[in-house]
Amino acid sequence: MSASNYLDLALSRTELDRAAHLRTDSDQQRELWKRAKIALLLGDKFVYEKSQSGTGIGLRYFSADEIDQYSQKNSSPLDNSSQQSGERYFLGLSNNQTPYFVFHTQPISEEGSSDFSADSLRAIGAQLSDLDIGVASHSLALSQWHYRHPRCAQCGAQTKVVLGGAARDCGECGAQHHPRTDPAVIVLVKDRADRILLGHQKVWPTNRFSTFAGFVEPGESFEQCVLREVKEEAGVVVTEMNYLGSQPWPFPASIMIAYEALIENPSDAKADGEEIEEIRWFTRESMKEAVRDQSIILPPSISVARAMINRWYGNGADRDLVGGEAWRS
Ligand SMILES: [Zn+2]
Repeated sequence: MSASNYLDLALSRTELDRAAHLRTDSDQQRELWKRAKIALLLGDKFVYEKSQSGTGIGLRYFSADEIDQYSQKNSSPLDNSSQQSGERYFLGLSNNQTPYFVFHTQPISEEGSSDFSADSLRAIGAQLSDLDIGVASHSLALSQWHYRHPRCAQCGAQTKVVLGGAARDCGECGAQHHPRTDPAVIVLVKDRADRILLGHQKVWPTNRFSTFAGFVEPGESFEQCVLREVKEEAGVVVTEMNYLGSQPWPFPASIMIAYEALIENPSDAKADGEEIEEIRWFTRESMKEAVRDQSIILPPSISVARAMINRWYGNGADRDLVGGEAWRS
């Protein structure tokens, strides 16, 4: 079954069963590792290869022996004072019960990693299969959390990976720490005439416009966050909202929760002047023209923002909205 949303979201695809019941037994984890397909993550770049059909690219999977050889040859400890040359995390089982892991290590050097082609999820995500994208999103989010959390948040002692990578244990105070995901809402603001409102952030490249977004604060619901963010950034009050879907955004640890929201007084909209420098209302026709004359650069195709804009635009988005797209510099 696909857990798809109302939106076509590139990074929300997956095929693995996370098989959490297999995480607890370390002997079983060792057995699974021996017959696993293992993705190799060098820093934040995945090793990939031309897919067998030759039309796209796929993650390159290694055997446990190949990973052993690789890590002996390139013994570069992770910087978090672990003496190991890398960490392995269990990701789950495929339909045919093949175990999947990721091995996370740092690239030796620019030259040392040239044995393989490797690139970031941002760069290759849109070209990967459903299986690979699930592997990559899970691997990246997990690896980055472990890498950034080597010590116990309660007592400061060194912690170690347990449960196949699903947690870290502190040997000093006994605390167990779980990977975090930081929720952020992302909102497509519309008026009664079915125009959409986009904003430009000061820190973005010139002419880059996108939907409004912000992190959910402690003790806040998603819906309260939608109301607050739209009021703060665009100065208008949301009167209706619909949930559209969610997408993991492991850069490094977010999940984007997507809403479309209606406002009643479009002429009241005003950029906050702090985070948002400029806002613009778009009809489909004005957006088509703005893309054509490059007075707007849209967010990249694997982003939730772009999926929402394309869904609103409807037929012809693939044809009319191509061209300029940009990351936030
Ligand atoms: Zn501790």
